[in-house]
Amino acid sequence: MPTVKYQKGDKVMGRWPGSSLYYEVKVLRFDTKSQLYTVIYKDGTELELKEQDIKSAAGFQARSRSRSRSRSRSPGRRRSRSRSPARTSRRSSSRTAAAVAAATTTDSAPSSRRDIKLKDALEVRLSPLQQTKAAENNSNNKHEKREEKQKEENNTANIVNEISEAKTEAEPDKNQGRYNLRRRKDDVDAKAVEAKPEQLEEKKVKLVAAPAAALSTPLDFGGKIGAYFWLLFLPVCVLLLILQVKQDDPSLTNFPPPLPPLEAFWDAQALGCVIVWILFQALLYILPVGKLSEGMPLRSGGKLKYRTNGFFAISVSAVAVAAAVYQGVDLTYIHSNFLQLAAATFLISVLLSIYLYVRSRYAAPDQLALGGNSGNVIYDFFKGHELNPRIKDFDLKFFCEMRPGLIGWCLINFAMALAEMKQQQLDAPSHAMILVNLFQLLYVVDGLWNEEAILTTIDLMHDGFGFMLAFGDLVWVPFTYTLQAYYLVNHPNPLSPLAVSVIVSLKLIGFYIFRKSNSEKNAFRRNPSDPKLSHLKTIPTATGKSLLVSGWWGVVRHPNYLGDLIMALAWSLPCGFSHLLPWYYMIYFIILLVHRDSRDMNECRRKYGSAWDEYCRTVRYRIIPRVY
Ligand code: NDP
Repeated sequence: MPTVKYQKGDKVMGRWPGSSLYYEVKVLRFDTKSQLYTVIYKDGTELELKEQDIKSAAGFQARSRSRSRSRSRSPGRRRSRSRSPARTSRRSSSRTAAAVAAATTTDSAPSSRRDIKLKDALEVRLSPLQQTKAAENNSNNKHEKREEKQKEENNTANIVNEISEAKTEAEPDKNQGRYNLRRRKDDVDAKAVEAKPEQLEEKKVKLVAAPAAALSTPLDFGGKIGAYFWLLFLPVCVLLLILQVKQDDPSLTNFPPPLPPLEAFWDAQALGCVIVWILFQALLYILPVGKLSEGMPLRSGGKLKYRTNGFFAISVSAVAVAAAVYQGVDLTYIHSNFLQLAAATFLISVLLSIYLYVRSRYAAPDQLALGGNSGNVIYDFFKGHELNPRIKDFDLKFFCEMRPGLIGWCLINFAMALAEMKQQQLDAPSHAMILVNLFQLLYVVDGLWNEEAILTTIDLMHDGFGFMLAFGDLVWVPFTYTLQAYYLVNHPNPLSPLAVSVIVSLKLIGFYIFRKSNSEKNAFRRNPSDPKLSHLKTIPTATGKSLLVSGWWGVVRHPNYLGDLIMALAWSLPCGFSHLLPWYYMIYFIILLVHRDSRDMNECRRKYGSAWDEYCRTVRYRIIPRVY
């Protein structure tokens, strides 16, 4: 019979998968068949580890201490560390000092040794990758380099745990107040929810330990090679779609469309129009009108405030556009200069992404997203690293997600309706054009009316702001989501009354599922004790958050994606079946949401461990009941 080295309940050090970071974990069980230990990390994540990924806590700490001592004595190391840009950045170090103060000032009797240790630890955390690079420059021996890196990471993980403990000791009361755990009659494991103090401490540990763990976040989108691909592919894709829809015959047989000369892309007036539009939206965003909504808790424990006045912004924009048209402004300019407007917006998105990348290099660790820190410039530029880049209170990600692109999408659709009337000499837009315009307008207006709900979405909560989102928000959304309207300008598709009613019904069903499910999750995340939601069943997780397991989120794991896909179908149908092009959105959206769902699955599994597995066992289908 095989010997079991660690017993249930043992506190040991477990390696974080894919990295050489070790965290304190508790052994839950050992499976003799798979020879794996199920362990639980302090952040509540349950994982199965091999024996070689576990070390006894006593031996590990002794080793780390001796490494830490020998490391701190080495003047060479001190020199190499001080060269790190993050280390010399005044901004980072002042934040570090603030973090140290936060961790220690409320502690009744912190020893000065511990203070020094904490400072040291936080300094180590600032830029482990850069430090490793610096260390590499000073070392010619590959083996030494590896050991150096290993030491650095072990030390970081170890010390981070110590800080967490100090921080948890320091703020027990604050902790108690912050997390409002939910009581539920039918919760199977009520005890797990009520084990508040322990869980709250665990939550704290997660908040502090996360930046170190961030280094081990797996790369998305095909990793570094994928990032090169997407950086090239996405703009080329937009270009080809625009050129294709401009053709008289946009059939697949006419693909690829001929490329225009380079100078055709540039138009100073188009650039001016885009800048004016973005500035106009920025002005509406900063006006002190509308609600200030709170975002979800950050890793640092705080919450950001967002001016959610999107509905106000689109209303004022509509009035401004109507006034401009009344004054004789010819909006069909948008149709005839579509390529130039897209090129100008692309230029702005690239400049914005460069700015975002540079500033993310100087951001404090607790302001970074868990991804986008591979150390590869292209990948990090693409993925984005800073979670909520702000200029004073101006939140760049929130603004770009919700305003210029989204409202611009409606403006472009409206311009296409005018262009259709002009081109086809109609007194009013066609039924197909009206449906496309109204459906998409409803989608945007609903998004802006419920703007607060975006604060609980993946983009806002988890993804860093970089090229992927900047380009997506500013270029991809307004210049490709409008292809159906653009297509209809030159390719009329008469609809029978029956077709209109079927399409409208489809849209309404999709919208109902989309809105209800998004609102349900948003309301639950904002107030898990909301009496209106008390009929819903939940699964508690070790992080203190619960997962909805009945209601919309008990039908499939992403009911909101299902509603969105049904709506996408309703947007494409008015364009008919003569060409594949207007179905681009439907095809793209299936790919996007399937990929997004799998990204979210991985992220939730990492966060919630076995609770997530239980959710997946209970709710078996991802997006479409009984199909997928
Ligand atoms: P979701 O709004 O579905 O957010 C996923 C998060 O919800 C998870 O990470 C988790 O976060 C939480 N969650 C998951 N399952 C549960 C559960 N059972 N109970 C409670 N919370 C749960 O994802 P997106 O941000 O991708 O989408 C938001 C909306 O935007 C969707 O309707 C989508 O269709 C739409 N969308 C539209 C796009 C477009 O281009 N038109 C593009 C992308 C999205 P946590 O537990 O941390 O709270």
